[in-house]
Order: sequence, then structure tokens, then C-alpha cells
Amino acid sequence: MATRFALMIVPADADEERADFADSFTAVDASAPALSVGELSTQRGDGVFESIGVIDGHPQEIEPHVQRLAHSAALCDLPAPNLEQWRQAVAVAAAECPPGEAVVKLILSRGVEHGPTPTAWATASKAADFSAARTRGIRVVTLDRGYDVGAAERAPWLLLGAKTLSYAVNMAALREAHRRGADDAVFLTSDGYVLEAPTASLILRFGDRFVTPAPSGGILHGTTQLSVYEHLAGLGHDAGYAQIPATDLSRADAAWLVSSVRLAAPITAIDGASLAIDPLTAELNAFLLSPR
Ligand code: PLP
Repeated sequence: MATRFALMIVPADADEERADFADSFTAVDASAPALSVGELSTQRGDGVFESIGVIDGHPQEIEPHVQRLAHSAALCDLPAPNLEQWRQAVAVAAAECPPGEAVVKLILSRGVEHGPTPTAWATASKAADFSAARTRGIRVVTLDRGYDVGAAERAPWLLLGAKTLSYAVNMAALREAHRRGADDAVFLTSDGYVLEAPTASLILRFGDRFVTPAPSGGILHGTTQLSVYEHLAGLGHDAGYAQIPATDLSRADAAWLVSSVRLAAPITAIDGASLAIDPLTAELNAFLLSPR
């Protein structure tokens, strides 16, 4: 979807306390060039980002998103973001969103090569229509991510738990899933454990128990998964984290890919084996569409 609004941000120091950061924001023409050719986000994907769902102008779960931005920045040795400045940038961008479903993106890059500061900006766009994925579901295939379950801890420079701008691998996995006749992918470790999807978290249901792979560094801790877990706990369900062998996938009674903009997409087939859509799906999406 075309970007409707773009806001350049002069990043403030993390500890700068100010009630109003408006003078550090400049709205720019979203269809005009805005970045320098020396920008390391475009040359190397060297930066971090967040995508925040916006419903009728209300940005969802701002706090978990800005906290995760800070976590990703720390993993990448980027200067710590000023969280209050980013909260205010979210509010400014969300106010420019069209009615209905939209998305605000936050981007913090290492900046221009040899430059003094990071580059930061926020955008607002209308969201794609995900109603078919939410109601009719999606088929997934499992794909080897090529790292074993201990890789994140052993090799933190792989940045496996950071939401970096380097999504070329994630996009390649989606193309491979499409080539295999599926809509999406679920990454597995090379030693056979379940991870996440290229742009979403995985939640499985076994009877009354809901399980998601433990975010022990190898995957992102999804803000949507956290929201869904809070909701499930409120409904009295047991929802927890585990190291899930890929062989357990065929035992699941239901499964979803969950993320900030598509929300809860029920999985109807894993590697060609059918899975029923859980009746809870509609209620999960109604909850995720309500102001949070
Ligand atoms: N995992 C990956 C790799 C993602 O890119 C995303 C979202 O883009 C998620 C999980 C889900 O995160 P969230 O629910 O915060 O959108």
C-alpha cells in the first residue's frame, strides 16, 4: 500500500526529558525522495523497525512496540532510542492514518556512512485487506532456517532476536512458500524445532493448552502473541511457552500465525496436512481489532 505520510525524526538522546518533541519532527512528502544515497539502511539493511497496527486512528500496543524497538536497537549496538519521542512520533503518524485499518512503521537506521547520528523516521499507510486470511485461513509449509536451536545464544551477532531491516531472507522464504503452493512459511531450526513465520508468530492449540515457541533469542517476541495470551488467560485458558519439536505440529488441534497488521490468521494446512479452523478465531480477531 502506498505510504500516505512520512515523518523524519531527529533522534533525541535516550535520557533527554521533554514534554514535547514536536520540533524534532518534520513531515515530508511521502512520495518524494527523502534519504541520502549513503544511508546504511538502504545499503546494508543496517537498522531496526516496528510495524504498528492502527484501527480508526488508534495505534495498538504502543508500549510493547517502542520497548521492542529499544531491545532491537540494543542488540544492534544502535544508540538507545528516546522512548517518549517515539511514542509522540507514533501519535503524530497515527493521526494521519485513514479510517479503518492502517499501519504505522517506525524505522531507526545506523544513518549515513561515517555520519554522526542515526536516521529515524515514521510512516503511515493504509493496511492491506486481510479479511480472507482471517476468516478462510492460510496454508503454511515448514522451511529450514539453517540454524540450530542454540544458534542465537552461541552467536548473538546473527541478531536472531532483533527486528532488523534485513528482511531479504524472510521475503525469500515467503516466495519459496508460494512456489510450494502455500501462503506462508513456518521456520524450523536445523535440529527440528519450531520457530516463527517470516513476519508472524506461531500459536498452536493442543486441547485446552495454547503453546508458542519460547522467545529465547532465536525469534522475535511478538506483541500480538503477547496480547492474545493475555486475552486467553482472561478467558481461563492455559497459554505457555515451550521448545516445540516440529514433529508436534501434526498433533495440533488448531494453529494461527499472529502479527500486528494481519492479526490472527488460522492455519488450514501444515505441509499439506489439513487443520480445522478453531471457532475461537473470530473472537480472537474481534479482540485484536478492539482498542488496546
Ligand atoms: N516474527 C517476525 C519475524 C515478524 O516479522 C513479526 C512481525 O512483523 C512477528 C514475529 C510478529 O510480531 P508482532 O506481533 O509484534 O507484529
